[in-house]
Amino acid sequence: MPAKKCDFPEGALRIRFQPGTRNYRQRNPMKIIHSIREMQAEADRMRANGLRIGFVPTMGFLHEGHLSLIREAGRRADRVVVSIFVNPTQFGPNEDFAAYPRDFERDRKLSEAEGADVIFSPAAEEMYPAGHCTHVDVDGLTETLCGASRPGHFRGVTTVVTKLFTAVKPHVAVFGQKDAQQAAVIRRMTADLNLDVEIVVAPIVREADGLAMSSRNVYLSPSEREDATVLRQSLLAAEDLFRKGERDASVLIRSVRSMISSKPSARVDYVSLADPGTLQPIDEARSGALLAVAVFIGKTRLIDNLILP
Ligand code: AMP
Repeated sequence: MPAKKCDFPEGALRIRFQPGTRNYRQRNPMKIIHSIREMQAEADRMRANGLRIGFVPTMGFLHEGHLSLIREAGRRADRVVVSIFVNPTQFGPNEDFAAYPRDFERDRKLSEAEGADVIFSPAAEEMYPAGHCTHVDVDGLTETLCGASRPGHFRGVTTVVTKLFTAVKPHVAVFGQKDAQQAAVIRRMTADLNLDVEIVVAPIVREADGLAMSSRNVYLSPSEREDATVLRQSLLAAEDLFRKGERDASVLIRSVRSMISSKPSARVDYVSLADPGTLQPIDEARSGALLAVAVFIGKTRLIDNLILP
C-alpha cells in the first residue's frame, strides 16, 4: 500500500476509520466533477501521487446496495470515485429513462458519508456530444437473459462503462452481483479489450424480506411491493429443490415460474438456469450455475438471481 499523501489544507481534513482494512484514511473534502477532462486530470493527479483509484459506476438514487459497493471500493483502493449518470443509451424507447428516479443532493450526502472522494456526474451531452458514433459490442453474452428482452441495452452499458473507465482511469471497479449478466459482460469486455482495470463483483444487498434493493423499487405500490418478494422466494424454493437432489433445469425453472405466476401483479419475463461465465442455458443443474429471473411487477421490471450452492 503506497504512503498516503497529505495534500490538503488543515481543517479540511476528514479522518475515517475503515474497520479491518486500512487504518486511518486522510482525505480532502469530496469533489464533484462534471467534465470528462477534469475527471481525467484528477485521476492523473491521484495516480501521480501513487494512489490506487477505486470506482463504482451507478445511475444514482443510491441505496444500501450501492453503498456496499462504495465500501468495497474503499477497502480495495486509496481513493473512491462514484459516478452518477443515468445513461440514456441503455434504455429502450419504451423504457423508464425519463421517469428513472433522480436525487443528486441525497446521493451527494450518502456518497460523502460513505467516504467517497469524488462524484463524477457528467451531463448526457458531455458523454455523448453531437456526432458521437462509436460503440462497444460484446457478442453472445449479451444476447441471452436481459439482452433478449432489452435489445441494445448491453451495447449502451458496455459503451458507457468503457467511456467511464477512460474518464476515471480506475485501478479497480466494483459492480453488483444483482446485475449478474452485466457483471459477466463487463468482465468479458475488460479481458477482451485488455483494459487495465480489476473487476470486483460484490454480493446482492436485500431488504429485510429478501427483496433485492433497487432504485426501481420506489415504483412499486404497496401491494406490488408485497408481491415483489416472490422473486427471492421462488429462487430460494428452487435452490431448496436443488439441495434435495433435483438436477433437471426444466423442473427448477417450472417451480420458479409457477410460484411467480401465483402473484396477481407478476408477469415472468424470463427464468433461466445458465452457465455463469457464458450465460448460455444449461439442461442439468449444477453447483455454481446461475439461476436468474426477470419479472414485471405491474409495470416495473425487477431482476434477481442466485448461484446454486
Ligand atoms: P445501478 O445504479 O442500478 O446502475 O447500479 C449500479 C451498481 O450497483 C451496479 O453494479 C449494480 O449491480 C449495483 N447494485 C444495484 N443494486 C444492488 C444491490 N441490491 N446489491 C448490490 N449491488 C447492487
